[in-house]
Parts: sequence; structure tokens; C-alpha cells
Amino acid sequence: MLHPCLRCGACCAHFRVAFHWSEAEPSLGGVVPRELADTLDPHRFVMRGTQASRPRCVALQGAVGDAAHCGIYERRPSVCREVEPSWESGRPSAQCDKARVAHGLPLLTPADWPEVAAPA
Ligand code: SF4
Ligand code: SF4
Repeated sequence: MLHPCLRCGACCAHFRVAFHWSEAEPSLGGVVPRELADTLDPHRFVMRGTQASRPRCVALQGAVGDAAHCGIYERRPSVCREVEPSWESGRPSAQCDKARVAHGLPLLTPADWPEVAAPA
């Protein structure tokens, strides 16, 4: 069964994705591609595209609600790693639910998690 996030991507096209600049600084162990982020303030970068009136992260590949994935999955910011899909861990996720509603997608339910493969 395909991981539900790979048929979604809504959260990558709904929220502003801001993170500490050090996450894009290799000398400090940062791995986020600097060229995909803009400066937000003296302390933070923001993933390009996520500040738009209709946000869509520049790293998002594919079509929201159909087939979508993060093009920098191994190098995504910490805030992206912290978003939990609803019911993956047995509880709802406000961020996941809000993003899916905004894109007209049904909320995930426990039935979406019988046996899933990890996102690629
Ligand atoms: S966490 Fe939720 S909103 Fe984000 S991609 Fe996964 S299913 Fe979609
Ligand atoms: S970096 Fe990847 S996981 Fe984070 S918002 Fe962009 S596409 Fe989504």
C-alpha cells in the first residue's frame, strides 16, 4: 500500500515553512539546499514558494492530492520532519487535517494505516 503522504502533499502547499538558517549551513551540519530557501528574517530562512498567497514549496514534486513527494526528502527542514500524518501514530494531527481540508481532501482515518510503506 502506498504511504498516504505520497498521494497527498497538501501540507507542502499550505503552510509557510520557516526554519533556522543553520539548517542550511553545511559547516554547522545543515543539509537543506540553500538555493531553495529565501531569507525571512535575521534568524530564519523560508522554503521558497511557501510565502505565496497560494503556497507551494519549490521542492514539492507532483500533483497535490494525486501523486506528490518531497524532492529533497533526506534534506528537508526539521519543521517538515515534525509534521505528523493523522493517525500514523494513533492520533489525529491538526496540521495534517488543516492542510487536507484546505485542498478539499478527506481527513485521514485509522483505516488509512493498515500496513504502509515508508515514504520514499
Ligand atoms: S502529513 Fe498529511 S497533509 Fe501532509 S502530506 Fe501527509 S497526509 Fe498530506
Ligand atoms: S521541503 Fe519537502 S517536506 Fe518540506 S514543505 Fe517542501 S516539499 Fe514539503
